[in-house]
Amino acid sequence: MRVECPHCHQKAIIASTNALSHTVKDLYCQCTNLEGGCGASFVMKLGYSHDLNPPIQNTRQLAASLLKSLTVSERQALIQSDLFGS
Ligand SMILES: [Zn+2]
Repeated sequence: MRVECPHCHQKAIIASTNALSHTVKDLYCQCTNLEGGCGASFVMKLGYSHDLNPPIQNTRQLAASLLKSLTVSERQALIQSDLFGS
């Protein structure tokens, strides 16, 4: 993960981290641009935003739950349809 100094926009390193929760961390950063007169230290936040795909197990549980809500004839009709590409 690359961190950019918010002051001089040069490379910074993560010196340490502090977990604020299971999904949010403070990143204590140090700018490496000493020659250019910056060298600032600062804190960035790293946090979970959202899923692009849910965990596989969640998808299976959801599918199983939906299938259980159907009657046997509805399940058979679903299997015989070309919903699954066959
Ligand atoms: Zn800097």
